[in-house]
Amino acid sequence: MDQLTDIVVVGAGAVGASSAAHLARAGHRVTVIESRSGSAGGSTGRSFGAVRAQWADRMNVELSWESIQRLSAFSAEHGVDVGYRPLGYLMLVPGSGWEAQLAAVELQRSYGVPVEVLDVERSRDVVAYAPEGIVGATWCGTDGVVDPRLLTDAYLDQARAAGAEVWFDHPVTALSAAADGQWRVQAGDKIITAQWLVNAAGGWAGGLAALAGFTVPVEHSRRSMYAATPTGLDRYVPMTIDLSSGIFVRTRGEHVVFSLAPPNPDPGYVDTPDWDWFEVVRPRAYERFPWLADLPLDRSASWGGTYEVTPDLQGILGPDPTAPTWINACGFSGHGLMQAPVVGSLVAEQVGQGSITSFDVAGLRPERFAQGAGLHRAGLVV
Ligand SMILES: Cc1cc2nc3c(=O)[nH]c(=O)nc-3n(C[C@H](O)[C@H](O)[C@H](O)COP(=O)(O)OP(=O)(O)OC[C@H]3O[C@@H](n4cnc5c(N)ncnc54)[C@H](O)[C@@H]3O)c2cc1C
Repeated sequence: MDQLTDIVVVGAGAVGASSAAHLARAGHRVTVIESRSGSAGGSTGRSFGAVRAQWADRMNVELSWESIQRLSAFSAEHGVDVGYRPLGYLMLVPGSGWEAQLAAVELQRSYGVPVEVLDVERSRDVVAYAPEGIVGATWCGTDGVVDPRLLTDAYLDQARAAGAEVWFDHPVTALSAAADGQWRVQAGDKIITAQWLVNAAGGWAGGLAALAGFTVPVEHSRRSMYAATPTGLDRYVPMTIDLSSGIFVRTRGEHVVFSLAPPNPDPGYVDTPDWDWFEVVRPRAYERFPWLADLPLDRSASWGGTYEVTPDLQGILGPDPTAPTWINACGFSGHGLMQAPVVGSLVAEQVGQGSITSFDVAGLRPERFAQGAGLHRAGLVV
């Protein structure tokens, strides 16, 4: 016999887990369905764990800043340390980007984000770098890191405590819609019927939607993280990005990790680092951060994974235009971890009141792709 629930959430990454927690705490019966044998097995567990409110557009400043404040209060509110540490985030800015960066700083400050403008000399006290082409930097001390697995598991625990079920090892392989808007979901050996379905399947969200006949434009986009052993390095390196080249670096656990996004990675899911791309990254990284060249590379600690990207590199949040009980929460294009705390609550808002009103997330609506007009990439997507 089919099982019954109010809401099926497909995907136990950060976005699905946060959605499940917020929905369950709002009183809905929730079943999380995950194909892997545990949580955070997709992009979430491969994330760099960086969080920042340093964005150049209103929507991303709002979503990220609100999420950071929730991460900051997580321990006090929920009694769980999810590894949020305000270790700061430094952006090195070339002359061509300086005016736009100062405009972004004004925007961020208008929300209360404590971002500082540093001259080259002061920024080199934060992180040593070769200054050629850099005219200044911005620094935000409340940006930092969070532990992706701890955060995901904390949300799943909250969901369970509020009555949710979490099924691992249950890939969703078939979906059908009933006339009353319900979803019949085949997952492994189980069939479950739900009033709503939340598509939190990350880079697989397009494939999941295709099972129901919808188009959700999300693709995997390969990323590689190269780890070096900080032998002889006597200081912590906060998250630092060179906006002129895209090279970024930070201390992470026992390593210093660095990389650069490739321009056109092959589509498809991969979870190993790209060593051909490393040959491109290495000279650029060593040019900006010469001390990196002295650190031995640790291949076994390097890793790969995929961003879940959309055509405008922004997430997809809201009901499918043709099916109000199908809620997309996917495609956050490399910033899904840092926005998961607020995205989950917006999913609950959508289900509970039929629309999202607490934030202006028009820029995330699924219908923007069909409408075409206004598709634009927000500044500071890195
Ligand atoms: C190398 C790397 C570095 C990153 N760095 C950062 C960073 O510093 N900061 C940041 O905010 N973000 C970062 N990201 C991006 C971030 O990890 C993602 O945006 C975020 O984790 C997406 O979460 P999600 O829950 O949407 O997707 P996922 O974590 O991918 O979860 C989706 C889940 O759905 C499951 N699933 C898929 N299809 C099905 C199905 N048919 N049936 C059942 N289950 C299914 C998958 O198994 C998976 O567990 C990084 C990503 C990578 C790869």
